[in-house]
Amino acid sequence: MAIRIGHGYDLHRLVEGRRLVLGGLEIPHSHGLLGHSDADVVLHAVSDVILGALGAGDIGQHFPDSDERYRGITSSELLKRVVTLMAGRGWRVGNLDVTIHAEQPRLGPYREAIRQRVATLLEVPAERVNVKAKTNEGLDAVGRGEAFAATAVVLPKAVDS
Ligand code: MG
Repeated sequence: MAIRIGHGYDLHRLVEGRRLVLGGLEIPHSHGLLGHSDADVVLHAVSDVILGALGAGDIGQHFPDSDERYRGITSSELLKRVVTLMAGRGWRVGNLDVTIHAEQPRLGPYREAIRQRVATLLEVPAERVNVKAKTNEGLDAVGRGEAFAATAVVLPKAVDS
């Protein structure tokens, strides 16, 4: 098949006493995301979007929380494994667009660094990656500052094209 597309989504609760890690970068904030390992909502959505595009399920299937091998593993390491799987099937990232849904802190100052980091993990030039950050205007759990979410779409490109 010459054309594929994926969609990724993730959400994590925001709590006190945790580091805030987005796109593999630690961002100074009073709260962090709750979950296994670093709970990096951005890299989870990016990993899922690639697996989705490949028709290969999701990160929960590939790296179950219940499996001791994945205890404490970083989301960056999980994404690297997903990229290896993608390459093994003959695909790389054509372009990827990710949106971070977060009320506070304002992520504009970190957007470019997150973009560079995600592109490095995907082994593509930064111009193939776009990172957007949106607030939810004070509405719903994200808007009330109780959670961060991330959505992503990817267009894979065949390695031999
Ligand atoms: Mg997650």
